[in-house]
Amino acid sequence: MRLTFREVASFWAAVTKPAIEYQESACWLWTGATHPALGPALRVHRFIDGPVCRMPRGAVFSWASAREVSWQLAHGVVHMDQKLVSTCGNDLCINPAHMVLAPLV
Ligand SMILES: [Zn+2]
Repeated sequence: MRLTFREVASFWAAVTKPAIEYQESACWLWTGATHPALGPALRVHRFIDGPVCRMPRGAVFSWASAREVSWQLAHGVVHMDQKLVSTCGNDLCINPAHMVLAPLV
């Protein structure tokens, strides 16, 4: 997905990263919003593929998976036929080292 500079900045503002020597091994905790279907989620002000919500006064926004954003910044886009699977089991972890790509079935 295309991300604006502002979205990337708000993504990083909602991540608590461990000390540099533990950045591979320890979880990166998401402190931003969560979505019932996506888990850790970043609000974006346009339509994307995924759950869409409407705000009062007609403004429209979507939720982007924070895990997917994290993966994308580290490795590149997650394609439509792929999904990310957590390998650490922490619902709020968005460390790209703690996910693997799997086929979407
Ligand atoms: Zn983790």
